[in-house]
Amino acid sequence: MKTFATNPRAETSRPRPCVLCGGAEPTPLWECGAFRFSRCRSCGLIQQNPQPEAEAVLARYDESYLAYEAERQFEYRDLELLALADLDFWKRAERPAPRKAGTDTPPAAPRVLDVGCATGALLTSFRDRGWACLGVEACAPAAAYGRARFGLDLRASTLEAAALEAASFDAIHASHLIEHLNEPGAFLDEARRLLVPGGLLVLTTPNADGLLARLFRASWRSAIYDHLYLFSRGTLVALLESRGFVVERLVTWGGWAKGLRPAFLKRPLDRAAKPLGFGDVMAILARRAE
Ligand SMILES: [Zn+2]
Repeated sequence: MKTFATNPRAETSRPRPCVLCGGAEPTPLWECGAFRFSRCRSCGLIQQNPQPEAEAVLARYDESYLAYEAERQFEYRDLELLALADLDFWKRAERPAPRKAGTDTPPAAPRVLDVGCATGALLTSFRDRGWACLGVEACAPAAAYGRARFGLDLRASTLEAAALEAASFDAIHASHLIEHLNEPGAFLDEARRLLVPGGLLVLTTPNADGLLARLFRASWRSAIYDHLYLFSRGTLVALLESRGFVVERLVTWGGWAKGLRPAFLKRPLDRAAKPLGFGDVMAILARRAE
């Protein structure tokens, strides 16, 4: 499955210090033609450097992005549901809320926010389970599509610009989002502000520690222009911990991509990737520290 990728174009870009440790000594890592990735000498975080400005990045999510997402929305929803099951998300999230003594008021529905929700297909699964749902999506046509098709509350906005109420969500989900953001640390700060204490954050992102990243390096399918950061397990956990989260679970999957040769490697490597942790994509479940 090919990832949505913008072709490099003329955009203002600038070198940036490491978002994890502030280090200003990047070591060149992968040359990808018109753009390049470097690795921080102190903490190992991989980032595109120089990096396009946020306004230019946001302008990429137009009608063509909606067309890509709408075609694959249920396939992606099913993958996201698999990731949630692997993370043991439902059992951890759907604890019955304590009833107030002396009242008959039923406990309120748990509240979820999906950031970068695309058409909102995943939120329909949360809604079916009784959750109150809100989506935030920078691609305005995708948000409009999801509102019309599914009747969901989807805001065409970045998370920061949506200015949501503090401590108003029990869970926040963001699939294949954090690697696209210029400021992943600021995103985590905002997610932390919006979660109730003990609330859950689920992130899915390519695994720069995986077998395919190590084999293919600059030609790895996730070394694309739209990915501003490429996290390993170590750098993602460190970033989450530095922003007030406790990591509870991390899984990886996908040992060999569809269409890669030799094709006979796909089945055994896919099977081994999850238990051995070398998969191409990782999902992480973290809890907001009290
Ligand atoms: Zn660093």
